[in-house]
Amino acid sequence: MIEFIHVEKIYSNKVKALQDVNVKIDKGEFVAVIGLSGAGKSTLIRCINRMHDITSGKLIVDGVEVNTLKGKQIRTFRKRIGMIFQSFNLVTRTSVLKNVLVSFVPDLPFWRKVTGIFSKEHKIEALTALDQVGILDKAYVRVDQLSGGQQQRVALARTLAQQPDIILADEPIASLDPVTAKQVMDDFQRINEELKISVIMNIHHVEMALQYAERIIGVRDGKIVFDGKTEAVTQEV
Ligand code: ADP
Ligand code: ADP
Repeated sequence: MIEFIHVEKIYSNKVKALQDVNVKIDKGEFVAVIGLSGAGKSTLIRCINRMHDITSGKLIVDGVEVNTLKGKQIRTFRKRIGMIFQSFNLVTRTSVLKNVLVSFVPDLPFWRKVTGIFSKEHKIEALTALDQVGILDKAYVRVDQLSGGQQQRVALARTLAQQPDIILADEPIASLDPVTAKQVMDDFQRINEELKISVIMNIHHVEMALQYAERIIGVRDGKIVFDGKTEAVTQEV
């Protein structure tokens, strides 16, 4: 469903972040992208939802060539692709529920998202998403009252409420302690297995990658240096 064909990404400062990348990812896979800082992991996943434009080659998602999409088409396309960041990207001074409800009105300006009146249906969907990540009891708590792990779960619930086919996660556990990190990885695993959502995750924590992902893609200097089943990986990648 996701296919990179001879993809190259050169930033405006002439940094070649991706070189001749050829990768195919099927529906439902759990892929970990590993490599040193600056290797190109983040660029790789951010091209998938058009946060970055590729410079040459082709990137196809479900038969659509991503770089031919324009304006409104990009926004529609992005609704099917959830994005999780290291820094959670939540509105911390409002409730957990409000943060999830925001996913139903992505095109509204920020102040209307926060003051918006939401339908009962949306509220039920948002509460369902919170239940899926085990924090339904926090729905009416302000985000800044939660731990880092709980905040990342709110971000996951917000993404789930948008019913994506794919979740891109850019170092989702990098700022969490080991115990919390495992809980968040468990959530990703459950979401992948039960809801059949593909997960493509950048992660510098190799042991976590090996423990949770089915497939490992190793990136170095913008090139894919390893791509295979997790069982086939040795620690030296
Ligand atoms: P990783 O996620 O593996 O740390 P990145 O994809 O963030 O790697 O970065 C790959 C290379 O591209 C690095 O050399 C980085 O400095 C550069 N880079 C990343 N983002 C930008 C940007 N927006 N503009 C210019 N260069 C960038
Ligand atoms: P905007 O109102 O411009 O979408 P946001 O604060 O929502 O601003 O997002 C900041 C950046 O992160 C933008 O470049 C946006 O495209 C990107 N972004 C945030 N969330 C997502 C997402 N779920 N999918 C794709 N891109 C996202």
